[in-house]
Amino acid sequence: MSGLVLEGISKSFNGVSAVDHVDLAVPNGTFVCMLGPSGCGKTTLLRTIAGLEEPTSGRILIDGADITAVPAHKRNFGMVFQSLALFPHLNVGENIAYPLRIRSVGRAERVKRAEELLALVDLRGYADRPVARLSGGQRQRVAIARALALSPKLFLLDEPLSALDAKLREAMQVELRKLQQRLGITTIVVTHDQREAMTMADLVVVMGQGRIQQAASPVEIYRKPVNAFVADFIGSTNLIAVQGSGQGVTAPGGTIPGVVLAPGQTSATLSVRPEDIHLVPVGEAPLTGTISFIRDLGASIETFVDAGGTQIVAVASPRDRAEFRVGDTVGLRLAPESCRVLAS
Ligand code: ATP
Repeated sequence: MSGLVLEGISKSFNGVSAVDHVDLAVPNGTFVCMLGPSGCGKTTLLRTIAGLEEPTSGRILIDGADITAVPAHKRNFGMVFQSLALFPHLNVGENIAYPLRIRSVGRAERVKRAEELLALVDLRGYADRPVARLSGGQRQRVAIARALALSPKLFLLDEPLSALDAKLREAMQVELRKLQQRLGITTIVVTHDQREAMTMADLVVVMGQGRIQQAASPVEIYRKPVNAFVADFIGSTNLIAVQGSGQGVTAPGGTIPGVVLAPGQTSATLSVRPEDIHLVPVGEAPLTGTISFIRDLGASIETFVDAGGTQIVAVASPRDRAEFRVGDTVGLRLAPESCRVLAS
């Protein structure tokens, strides 16, 4: 396959597993976000791809060639770390041209290339600025430009935006995605922010306990999570324990028609997004509960419903603001196609 392939990559530190048998195929030009809770092995996997960690076992292939034993500086990958690691004593242009200088590219060529890279990250005219006089977002761009100086085969970023405030971070997510699309460069970003991953990625890789839990497009990860860990980590979801066989299943607050378990399966967990659950007058749906709390967020209203001891969150439209009150008994309507059956 052309692109990056990880084959059975594992990494242990003193016998303790950080990355556990990771297989992944990334076609050229893909934007990948690796996502997962703290300690799940994201950074270790990224550093292994970069050549900064040696895998305990497994192989790394680029366009079919095994690069597992190639040292980091010979892989021609661009990297941006959370710390950015800019050189404080060099100005912006010198920072960006540094990778060219250590490869003995001549001065005129370096200056020309630095100008191009500055234009690429929207920092034209900043070459002579000391890096100390840049804002957080501008430093970010300098680090990105420097990492792209050698037209790398792979662009690897570890939590690149986490030091920025929320507004700037969202703007940079869009910029980074646009830049990647313009260059067509295969990019892997480590993040713990699921919104960030959903904004930027073609391929979201959800990691948990050193393993890939699911690797799929953002929409598929959201609509078709393969297990409760992914369902719960991406967005918010209701995990409802159900029993049944044949047509329909029984939940603590009643029945859910139309949901069918696999042959031989008698219990399961349903993952249902709050926006897929609709409150209706009691009697209009076979699943019922009592409203225990209402969180009015202005643009939407989250209602917390106690259905036979299970808390179910449903999102109501602000138009229905006057319809339901805490203490009301309500029906909960769930479309079977929005219920994702997970193995329990
Ligand atoms: P975070 O989001 O907190 O950065 P992460 O998902 O990137 O977490 P890693 O940094 O890859 O996780 O760490 C995975 C596991 O490997 C953790 O248990 C960590 O303590 C361990 N680990 C990582 N690097 C080393 C190291 N150099 N020596 C020993 N253990 C390490």
